[in-house]
Amino acid sequence: MEEGFERLAPPRRGEWRSLFDEKEQTVEDYAAGCANRRSDARSFLVLQPLGTPTPMIRRMADYAEAFFGLPVRVGPARPPVDRAHVPTRDQYNSSMVLDEMAGLVPSDALVLLGVAAHDLFARGKRFVFGEGSLERRVGVCSLARLAHPDAALVERRAFKLMCHEIGHILSIAHCVTHRCVMQGSNTLEESDGHPLHLCPADLRKLEWNTGVGRDDRYRHLQAFYEAAGWTADAAWVGRQLKKRSVLGTPGEG
Ligand SMILES: [Zn+2]
Ligand SMILES: [Zn+2]
Repeated sequence: MEEGFERLAPPRRGEWRSLFDEKEQTVEDYAAGCANRRSDARSFLVLQPLGTPTPMIRRMADYAEAFFGLPVRVGPARPPVDRAHVPTRDQYNSSMVLDEMAGLVPSDALVLLGVAAHDLFARGKRFVFGEGSLERRVGVCSLARLAHPDAALVERRAFKLMCHEIGHILSIAHCVTHRCVMQGSNTLEESDGHPLHLCPADLRKLEWNTGVGRDDRYRHLQAFYEAAGWTADAAWVGRQLKKRSVLGTPGEG
């Protein structure tokens, strides 16, 4: 096993993988089926606040820039999508929000991600943290259920959700092999147990898609974590960089 990356044990009862039998998406599967790849004409990630913008939005944009190695824009806040609101449950139908947002995707955007202050649901589900559409390059996530007295934890949850949803919109499927930010989760508790990093295969998918260099990306993340005082994350990235300088095998995962 590669240092710093843990293979998954069989799922426990109630965890995502115990309920959904998803197949592994290899790097080759990914490259063959990717619906949305970076090009010079489409290179931006755009975060679109829906409803009152979170005070974290700028930090989310900075983190996305480090994580994906792409330029990030924050769009002007828009009101929530009224017709998607269901008063009896005081939630918004995420598919209807997506339909509305699909008409707003800028031509230079690789991904448009709505960042909603309000709660979302989908058919048959009590709530959803987010939903994405690969073909339409658009997704939405909700911060409504991420609240906690520990502000750093809330930020971590928001980063994790954002990177997971953008990963999906870049055609990356749920990870079923490693502890990884692309693991599916049923609950906030389950998602809190997932790391913020990509496993080796999902990292290679991102590199294939965007062309981001591994060392550049890790250095950018390390600088972000150090500035934030997230010492464990900075140390983890530092070990990855050190391992690579010792092995001297750029581009291998
Ligand atoms: Zn997911
Ligand atoms: Zn993974």
